[in-house]
Amino acid sequence: MVSRQIKKAVVCGAGGFIGSHLVKRLKEEGYWVRGVDIKYPEFSKTAADEFLLLDLRDAVNTAKAVTLGANGFDEIYQLAADMGGMGFIHSAECEIMHNSALININMISAATAKKVKRYFFSSSVCIYRDMKPGEAELSEEDAYPANPHNEYGWEKLYAERTALACSRHNNITVRIARFQNCYGPEGTWRGGREKAPAAICRKVAEASNGGVIEVWGNGEAIRSYTYVDDMVEGIRKLMQSDLEGPVNIGSPEYVSVRELVDTATEVAGKKLNIKWVEGPVGVQSRNFSNKKIYSTGWRAKFSLKDGIKITYPWVKEQVEKNQKIKESR
Ligand code: NAD
Repeated sequence: MVSRQIKKAVVCGAGGFIGSHLVKRLKEEGYWVRGVDIKYPEFSKTAADEFLLLDLRDAVNTAKAVTLGANGFDEIYQLAADMGGMGFIHSAECEIMHNSALININMISAATAKKVKRYFFSSSVCIYRDMKPGEAELSEEDAYPANPHNEYGWEKLYAERTALACSRHNNITVRIARFQNCYGPEGTWRGGREKAPAAICRKVAEASNGGVIEVWGNGEAIRSYTYVDDMVEGIRKLMQSDLEGPVNIGSPEYVSVRELVDTATEVAGKKLNIKWVEGPVGVQSRNFSNKKIYSTGWRAKFSLKDGIKITYPWVKEQVEKNQKIKESR
């Protein structure tokens, strides 16, 4: 039996990148945590007190995920999604629209039925339209009139609205973060679902000094990359705040993809030539207001270089482990 005094949280998507880091953080803060996912974390043992393997597309399973004794959970963190970088987002549009929508509809319905007090939903800045380089920053309200660049963004926007509608008509407090790109150790680094920072670190780690790496696009697309510890801090600050409606969370350091590659090669201590190739690059530019999340006192602590200094060695280690496994076969 879990003591009534201890705060209890369920993290859905706890087998994934941000979810597994969030579980660690909640444990450090003294929570009793249940992790839920369709798979266990790939790179380290979960820090959760209990871990349920459940497919959250099924409403029976979402009900199980949020049920705990007589007093139930204080907080739900919903991060489970059919998710990946641009390569995945462009090739798996039907799966994203189907699977993530089912997860989100079932999760907010189950949380509402169980009368859980606080519900967190991980949305994305992919709900915004494309931008031109140098364009003034968009605030949360500028999501409308809506024109997300991809189906992943449309599904997130629908899920935001579903959660907010349930909140208006029931006694459940909803907090929604629109994440910028997030990276760090224990993120997917290969297999097609990896995002740009992990993919670039992998390519740099695999290349010999003086060699060539292939990168999608022309290097001019503008992005911001947020180190995972900063993102988790933002989630916690937002969850404790009284901020209504969606809230952007992301590093204010905007860089081109070329600068991302340069940072990774510099951290690796290599000189590499880049071959720009055609690929699913995504939007041209990003620039978002952090005014709302800044009102909680949150600030990104990690520069891109600081974050890559931690992430690159982790990716390099995975590349080397993988090579050893291949050689031993
Ligand atoms: P991730 O893919 O590492 O984690 C998502 C988890 O959801 C995975 O472990 C996956 O197994 C799980 N999942 C998928 N389908 C499921 C199902 N049917 N039942 C149960 N679990 C299921 O992704 P992440 O990077 O940790 O992202 C977490 C959340 O943040 C996602 O909702 C994502 O859309 C959002 N987000 C992430 C980023 C980023 O840059 N990483 C940016 C914007 C938004």
